[in-house]
Amino acid sequence: MDYKDLADLIFPDAKDIYYYEEKYPERNLKEGAIVTRIAPSPTGFIHIGGLYQGLIAKKLAAQTGGVFFVRIEDTDQKREVENGTTEIVTSLNNFGFEPDEGMVSETEGKGNYGPYKQSMRKEIYQAYAKYLIEQGKAYPCFCSPEEIEQIRAKQEAAKIRPGYYGVWAKCRNNTVEEMAEKIKNGESYIIRFKSPGREDRKIKHHDVIKGNVDFPENDQDIVIIKADGLPTYHFAHAVDDHLMRTTHVIRGDEWLSSVPLHLQLFHELGFKTPKYAHIAPIMKNDDGNKRKLSKRKDPEAAVSYYEQEGIPKEAVKEYLLNIANSNFENWRRANPEKSMDEFELQLNKMSVSGALFDMVKLLDVGKTVISRMTAEEVYDNAFTWAKKYDEELAKMLENKEYALKVFGIERGNKKPRKDISKWSDVKENIEYMYDEKFNEKEQEYPYQVINNKEDIEKILTLYLEKYYDDSHDKQQWFDSIKELAGEMGYAKEVKEFKENPGKYEAHVGDVSTVLRVALTGRTNTPDMYEIMQILGKERIAKRFEKAIQRNRV
Ligand code: GLU
Repeated sequence: MDYKDLADLIFPDAKDIYYYEEKYPERNLKEGAIVTRIAPSPTGFIHIGGLYQGLIAKKLAAQTGGVFFVRIEDTDQKREVENGTTEIVTSLNNFGFEPDEGMVSETEGKGNYGPYKQSMRKEIYQAYAKYLIEQGKAYPCFCSPEEIEQIRAKQEAAKIRPGYYGVWAKCRNNTVEEMAEKIKNGESYIIRFKSPGREDRKIKHHDVIKGNVDFPENDQDIVIIKADGLPTYHFAHAVDDHLMRTTHVIRGDEWLSSVPLHLQLFHELGFKTPKYAHIAPIMKNDDGNKRKLSKRKDPEAAVSYYEQEGIPKEAVKEYLLNIANSNFENWRRANPEKSMDEFELQLNKMSVSGALFDMVKLLDVGKTVISRMTAEEVYDNAFTWAKKYDEELAKMLENKEYALKVFGIERGNKKPRKDISKWSDVKENIEYMYDEKFNEKEQEYPYQVINNKEDIEKILTLYLEKYYDDSHDKQQWFDSIKELAGEMGYAKEVKEFKENPGKYEAHVGDVSTVLRVALTGRTNTPDMYEIMQILGKERIAKRFEKAIQRNRV
């Protein structure tokens, strides 16, 4: 009885690994092409961290003429949720991170290197486990969970490193005959890797993001095939990323400490190692404490949050890119018109420690992103969002022609308005342009410098009677307000006002404020000339009348 017989006994039906080596040949890509992936577990909604990895992987592959694929890691079937795969794929597609290869539904995939779901690859892992057993590099372990627990307790009592290694690795010293005997007797077992490593030796490793790192070698005989016949993460990682011809493993830095084990597995399996790039997690400032953004505690960790809030996807993407490479911000400033796809992402410029997630900044990016949109785009996005999340807004937007005018105010010029950061801001932002909304509540009129009742009434009355003319262009319109200021005894120019302290009670700008407040109930609005053009004389008159009535009480 030798290792070969033992391997045949354990996996009688497994194919020869050369079958798979030939089936999944080296990819024929140009020099420097990056083949990378994300490998989520289908355990619920996709986390912002998952999206972040998706962005990085997609962009690097696209930039280099490589391949981006999605592999579903469902070897821990207890944690799986229904439709988990579909949810991941849908979220990625929604953000424009459509993979070149990978699962497209729960059971279907696209690409020549699949299946892209680990539970569908059982026989492949078994072939490679068999291959290791044949060479004496893996063995069946018959220790029960209770025995493993006893070993752990002894180690703890003796204050030594826990795990299944060296003298503690009881089953590694069984003879082939003993192993075969136990199997034939029906004892249950799992498969362990027989680590050739020694803890007192160091390995040096270069991580694309973290730089040079030193680790002790791995000496743990880790489980590679579990009792259910499925592989552990470590073994599946080696087999899959080899067969899928991944060039760069880009993953969360919680895996950095597993690198010695992974390098060892690649080596013992005879695989070429990929490059590793370990990404620092996205952090959150929680009352002065920096911690990982948490799926459980933070609503903004869920990708669905952005949709509900109406934060444009472009903004989320730009913001994530900004976290990934801090030089993106400068690039964006220098190239305000360019698509973010033109920015070249560099892995080695990613920060070694976790960047803070800053909602204020994200919303600011949102403002810029929305300011670059046409009125039509703003309308489409806001309407789509409203139909799902805000019935009242959806109703307001039904009159498209009118809404386009409202969204068109100060848009499409050099310095477009920057006052909407997310679709859920829209209602608040435009409601004064809707009479029903404007009239529905007891309107506040926050007049400023000019605030006595007579002056206000006089300004509003005179303006309509004498100065307003809807055929005025913007200059004429403004000149007429100056005239009105003059008639009221205020300075017609701000400059004049400033140069003659004490001479005037107010200036033309203060008159504008009275008009603005009476019209909109706000001190701050986009261009008032455009607002008046949209409202038209009749509605302006009604609003002034309302303001005057209110002013009298
Ligand atoms: N399923 C692993 C995780 O979610 C994947 C890590 C990797 O990218 O290799 O953490």
